[in-house]
Amino acid sequence: MKAILSPYFDAPGPAKFLRRGRFVEHPDVAQRGNQIRVGLEMAGCEIVFASSQPELRKLIIAVHDTAYVEYLESAWSNWSKMPDASTEIFPNISPNRHIAQFNENPVALAGWYIADCAAPIGEYTWRNALLSVSAVIQGASCLRAGEFAIYALCRPSGHHACQDRAMGMCFLNNAAIAAQELHQQFAKVAILDIDMHHGNGTQQIFYQHSDFLTISIHGNPANFYPFYTGFENECGSDEGEECNLNIPLPPGTNEASYIQALEKAIDVISSFKAEALVVATGFDTFKSDPLGCFSLESTSYNEIGRKIKSLSLPTLFVQEGGYFVEALSENVRQLVAGFESV
Ligand SMILES: [Zn+2]
Repeated sequence: MKAILSPYFDAPGPAKFLRRGRFVEHPDVAQRGNQIRVGLEMAGCEIVFASSQPELRKLIIAVHDTAYVEYLESAWSNWSKMPDASTEIFPNISPNRHIAQFNENPVALAGWYIADCAAPIGEYTWRNALLSVSAVIQGASCLRAGEFAIYALCRPSGHHACQDRAMGMCFLNNAAIAAQELHQQFAKVAILDIDMHHGNGTQQIFYQHSDFLTISIHGNPANFYPFYTGFENECGSDEGEECNLNIPLPPGTNEASYIQALEKAIDVISSFKAEALVVATGFDTFKSDPLGCFSLESTSYNEIGRKIKSLSLPTLFVQEGGYFVEALSENVRQLVAGFESV
């Protein structure tokens, strides 16, 4: 399998984020990008670096609101002109959008467009987010040209990014943008999210669409980020009714229970008659991941890869979470090896 890397896959991550009321070191550290690359090399992937893709902005705006994209583009330069501004933008305030008036003050914009304190915007956020999208678009183009499977290593990841809000380390929804691009050729596209956290942004973007099936297997949001979405009763609406499936699982979920959930997801993707598959790929389901609460082993990812391959669909793996643990390279290797073994 070919791996397409953002040239900034190992760029320094944000400095801090807010966790349970405390500012702590941000978990998206540069070393995790390197570890994922090592895992891809260990699996024998051909490594290719993404270049900026033509018409990127048009592809992004097909998924995200134009005003939000313009905000991301200019946020840091406007913010940094304020006296005594911090080097990373955090929202000070969460407006009630039903009654609030839009305000172009940089502090007001941060509250409007950034939904939590896990997605700080720094000097290079926009550059890095754009090249993440380039990597997945290049991957989607390869599938459209007839390749069977691609792994896109993008940082920052994207599955929490909503149509017009950043959150959870995500700014542009790479998986959704790639799915939209694949839809130019494939009538029905499924997005299977195997990250530890609910893919709330992807769900929101496609919630009313019948050509996209969104499935997420994740920690039960009753007690886990992102808390407000990811429950079983969110099934899609309007034309998208029954095109969204959430499978929340309890803390401590082991391989056997996880694979059972994955088999259910695979059955639903088969019934949907998807023609292409995007896998929002997270490794924070690993037993010692600092942000996770499941109990998967390294070898579990081999089984996950095998199960996904059983769908026999053109497949684009899009990097989401999975944080800095010694086993991260091996987990990546196992997923790719499992996929390629059958
Ligand atoms: Zn995650």
